[in-house]
Amino acid sequence: MGRRHALHWAKRVLAEDAHRADDFVPTLIEWKFGYDADPIDMGGYLLRGRIDRIDVDRDGRAVIIDYKRTCSASYGANKMLSEGLVQVPIYLEAVRRGALLQPIAGVYRGLSSAVERGLVTKGTLDAARTTSTDLREPEEFEALVAEALELCGLAVEGMRAGDIAPQPRTQGSCVRCPVAAVCGARL
Ligand code: SF4
Repeated sequence: MGRRHALHWAKRVLAEDAHRADDFVPTLIEWKFGYDADPIDMGGYLLRGRIDRIDVDRDGRAVIIDYKRTCSASYGANKMLSEGLVQVPIYLEAVRRGALLQPIAGVYRGLSSAVERGLVTKGTLDAARTTSTDLREPEEFEALVAEALELCGLAVEGMRAGDIAPQPRTQGSCVRCPVAAVCGARL
């Protein structure tokens, strides 16, 4: 059943996403940094990661897509930082620093529907799949990325200072954690 579901999703997602945005071409797939290639210097710490898909236009503007099984409102621009979901804004900055591209949108794309949530510069992607509350003016877009960077910087500082007490932000924070059984912090 799992295999059939995966094939069904893959066919539909490929059809829907082959041309996600006019003038943008899927350019970097499973783009990894910090594994075989160098990690990215985020200013005070080095970052390792993998981005599912990066579409790029002729001007070097980049759209990041991260595929998720489901895509809830928590992944939207209004909630992502309060929920501790810094992945998309941090990857937007990683693309700027590591791939020398100009990030204009980063979205989580649910596999079970075409819904996308994330952070999108106004006027850059078609509105049909973008939630209005995820749209930001360019300066707001950059401010949210900067806020995510600050949160990560604080977390790194805490780790270096030995401040590693569990601090789950929400009840959902620990749901898929592989060490939840020994951490004892599940809300
Ligand atoms: S269970 Fe503990 S280690 Fe896992 S996410 Fe929650 S707080 Fe973090």
